Parts: sequence; structure tokens; C-alpha cells
Amino acid sequence: MKVITKIATMRKYAARAKKAGKRIGLVPTMGYLHKGHMSLVAAARRECDVVVVSIFVNPIQFGPREDLKKYPRDLARDKKLCAGSGVDVLFVPSVREMYPHGFSTFVDVRGVAAETLCGASRPGHFRGVATVVAKLFNIVSPDVSYFGEKDAQQSVVIQKMARELGIPTRIRVMPTVREKNGLAVSSRNSYLSDEDRKKALSIRASLARARKAVLSGEHRASVVKNSVKDSLKKASGIRVDYVDIVRAEDLMPLKKLKGDLFILAAAFVGKTRLIDNIRMRI
Ligand code: AMP
Repeated sequence: MKVITKIATMRKYAARAKKAGKRIGLVPTMGYLHKGHMSLVAAARRECDVVVVSIFVNPIQFGPREDLKKYPRDLARDKKLCAGSGVDVLFVPSVREMYPHGFSTFVDVRGVAAETLCGASRPGHFRGVATVVAKLFNIVSPDVSYFGEKDAQQSVVIQKMARELGIPTRIRVMPTVREKNGLAVSSRNSYLSDEDRKKALSIRASLARARKAVLSGEHRASVVKNSVKDSLKKASGIRVDYVDIVRAEDLMPLKKLKGDLFILAAAFVGKTRLIDNIRMRI
């Protein structure tokens, strides 16, 4: 496995692979890799000739009062995991390499897809995400790029950005990987104490209950949403950020549950903000 830190080197590697007729798969991450990330790597390994994993804790997607400084990092462990999973290139640029002095170009996706839900709670977040992902797409020129449905809104924003900017990469969105108890795996779970982890389970549990209610015929979004909110409010140690039900394609809010949709929740367990969702096709 090659570890590349410079944009020019990454670009040359990608150009050579393309010239040799190879299909490049890109898995963009912020590192501290877990089995959710590795499921994306496995999909890329199955479907592409060259697998590139990027690790970059992207400062511009963190708000001023968010966890950039304490975001978990363990490059040595990440390297081992990638080398053992058939990754060809680990692209690990520095902040200076990605955002040299004077950097002032941003990709700003507007509208419902980017300005609601996490976009409303974390102003500027998707601007940071879209900017770094567009830049990674330009550097790596992947034929296929892999994202997780755990961050459903991020996937929709990136698909919209790539489509509207004419970036020729196919985007694959892979299912959420969970712990046995149902907790969605996340690098941020490392902030949680054992007690917090138990509390965090109520996010998944209330979404699962909502799914049950929908399957038994409750199709009024307000009723389903309020029941999720109520059960989260009752859970101890949880502060709800949002609960919403939206069309999967473009995240338009739904009044009636119909078609392909997400029930999404964001909540704080202590200081840790967690997100999860359930996708339903009705
Ligand atoms: P992150 O390092 O948190 O920025 O995540 C990098 C990629 O991994 C994103 O596309 C995430 O959606 C995806 N991802 C994170 N957690 C999971 C999970 N539990 N299951 C599947 N994909 C995930």
C-alpha cells in the first residue's frame, strides 16, 4: 500500500492508473477507521481495480464550537487496517496541502438538501463537506466514490453537487453498519462512556419503533415524528436536535409517509452529537 501526502503525487498516480485502463474507487474519510468505513472499502475493492482511501479531518466542516481539536485520530492503526484490507493508496494530505495560505474557494450547495436538518443545526458544515469532496474528486478522479447512508444528508448533498458541477464520478451509497445492539458505528462513539452508549441506543430504538408504527399503518408524518421526539425526550440523558421525515431523493419534508423516505434523528448524548436514520420504501 502506498501512502501519499502530496496532491501532485496523488494526481500522477491516478493519471497512470487511468492510462492503464484501471477503474479507481475512492473512499473519503476523516480517519479513526471502523467497520462502517471498512464496508465502503470492501465495496470499492469488489467493484474497482484501484482503491484509494483518503483520510483528512477537514477543519472547514467543523463549526467554531465543535470538536475539531479533539476529533479522534490514529493514523498508525488506520494504516494497518487499510493495508490489511486491500487498499492500494492511502491519501493523507495535511491541512496546509489542502488549504494553502490564502485559500478562498468554496462549494456552497444551497436549498433544502443542504440547508435543513444537519445543515440548519451546523451552519457551514455542508459547505465544508462539499468543498473538500469536490477537491478530492478533482485530485483522485475516481470512477466510483463510496459514501455511507448513515450520513444520508451528506450523500444527497454530494450527489447533487457532483451532478450539478458535472463531476464524472459514480456515487455509491452503502448501508449503515451497526453494532450488534443496533448502535450505528461512528468515530464519535469513542467519546461515549459505557453509560452514554446505553443512552445512545434510545436513538435507534425510537426510530425502530417509528418504523413499526408506519408498518402498522400510521402514515401521518407529524404523528410519527412526535412519537420519536417524545420517546427521545423521555430517554434519560438525551437532548433532541431534530427529528424529521423527508423524501430520500431530495430531502423535501413529507406530510404523508409515501415512497422512498428517511426518518432521521440527531441528538446529543452529553456533549456528543449523534445522528441516525431509517430508510423506508412505502
Ligand atoms: P467519516 O470518517 O465519519 O467522515 O465517514 C466517512 C464515510 O464513512 C462517510 O461516507 C460516512 O457516511 C461513512 N460511514 C460512517 N459511519 C458509517 C457506518 N456506520 N456505516 C456505513 N458507513 C459509514
